[in-house]
Amino acid sequence: MAYDPNNIFAKIIRGEIPCKKVYEDEIALAFADIAPAAPVHVLVLPKGEYLSFDDFAGAEPEAVGRFFVAVRKVAAQLGLPEGGYRLIMNHGADASQSVPHFHVHILGGRPLGGLLPGDALNR
Ligand code: 5GP
Repeated sequence: MAYDPNNIFAKIIRGEIPCKKVYEDEIALAFADIAPAAPVHVLVLPKGEYLSFDDFAGAEPEAVGRFFVAVRKVAAQLGLPEGGYRLIMNHGADASQSVPHFHVHILGGRPLGGLLPGDALNR
């Protein structure tokens, strides 16, 4: 699948659509998810054109590493490391990825339960 430069996150990166910005540097942008699934729900994106984790993880290792350093920085800025947080990266249909620009969800601010709905911790 080719990268679609008109996807919603590409428009946010270009400043064509507003967002509640949390963090930005030369390679990454982080903003609040429009439909938060937890008290803290922030999306972190590389500014480059990558479809998903599967695509991004094949990029230059230094770029991949620098991006995840930025994700850690955002989690720290949000005050999450002490209480804990979860990172989610969806790739493709089975994972219900809905926006075809790679992004990491940072979720926290309350106990998040089991890994997936239906896990023992969620019953
Ligand atoms: P995915 O399912 O692709 O992993 O996650 C996409 C996420 O983007 C969803 O959690 C959804 O709420 C969020 N989202 C979709 N459109 C927008 C938008 O226009 N602005 C913001 N801030 N978040 C969005």
